[in-house]
Amino acid sequence: PVVLGIETSCDETGIGIVRGTTLLANAIASSMDEHARYGGVVPEIAARAHLEALTPTIRLALEQAGLGINDIDAIAVTSGPGLSGALMVGVAAAKGLAVSTGKPLYAVNHLVGHVGVDLVTPDSEPLEYPTIALLVSGGHTSLLYVRDLVDDVELLGETIDDAAGEAFDKVARVLGLPYPGGPHIDRVAVGGNPKAIRFPRGLSLPKDMAAHRYDFSFSGLKTAVARWVEARQDRGEDVPIADVAASFREAVADVLLTKALAACADLGVPRLLLGGGVVANARIRELAAIRAERAGITLRIPPFELCTDNGAMIAALGAQLIMRGLPPSTLDFGADSTLPVTDIHVI
Ligand code: ATP
Ligand code: MG
Ligand code: FE
Repeated sequence: PVVLGIETSCDETGIGIVRGTTLLANAIASSMDEHARYGGVVPEIAARAHLEALTPTIRLALEQAGLGINDIDAIAVTSGPGLSGALMVGVAAAKGLAVSTGKPLYAVNHLVGHVGVDLVTPDSEPLEYPTIALLVSGGHTSLLYVRDLVDDVELLGETIDDAAGEAFDKVARVLGLPYPGGPHIDRVAVGGNPKAIRFPRGLSLPKDMAAHRYDFSFSGLKTAVARWVEARQDRGEDVPIADVAASFREAVADVLLTKALAACADLGVPRLLLGGGVVANARIRELAAIRAERAGITLRIPPFELCTDNGAMIAALGAQLIMRGLPPSTLDFGADSTLPVTDIHVI
């Protein structure tokens, strides 16, 4: 089936089109620049930006695919989790499109979409199931056990405070780097010594591992970096930015991969899929490759434009639901900012 996917859970307006597992279009408009001066995504601004971007982005995606709206068999939309107001704009648009075209509508889970995107990644054999998935972005840090993409996804753990991307953005601010901080930390970390400062690995002590084996915490790390930098500044000393960035990045990469690979080992799952914008991080990618190889685990990282929020992942999941014979949504669903990962598809 040809499916048009609509994603508006955060600051990207993403419209993707797939035919089965073939990617036909992936058009994205981002309001990231408008949030820059606030140092984080402002929900009201994001919602308004989606409203403005939706029609032109749908048009662009259809153009990329060389299709008209009548060539689409079904529409899929993110109904959660995400920012309420932002989600509502996408849900309303999807319902309007479904009613006006008479096409079936599938409301899907954003996090599961990040996993499903693997199926439409060009030039790669799709990952087999079960797989462990580690999703790391500005809004979430979640470890999933995916036994079946459309039927059986379990949340193993998630952050109990900040998301990893948020920590990158906050630490960047402490170091005087622009928003979004991730790419800047990566840039200045080059040449830094990752062992210069031993920053804390959240929820990694034996007592924490007992209760929070697969959970993450980055707020203590963020505070530790800020304290370390302030102490230097108070003494009138220069801050070795490259060492701080490299050591911080190391702490994040280490804890993410330690826990993800622990899940693979504990559950006997030899596959790990990474997703989310933070996966662009050079050290996370490098450490993932090294440790997965050492553990005999098949590692999959989609290309960057499919790791960050996009509509193709929503279309991909919608297409899977259709191919598995699952029913479309009624028009009664709404946006659900805290939609649990077990609700893969909302009817
Ligand atoms: P959601 O949480 O809904 O997926 P989001 O918009 O917060 O949405 P993404 O767009 O997937 O998340 O990713 C943005 C985040 O990724 C930002 O926090 C940004 O700092 C981070 N990021 C981008 N590049 C890098 C990098 N090279 N290293 C670390 N973090 C990065
Ligand atoms: Mg984003
Ligand atoms: Fe996301």
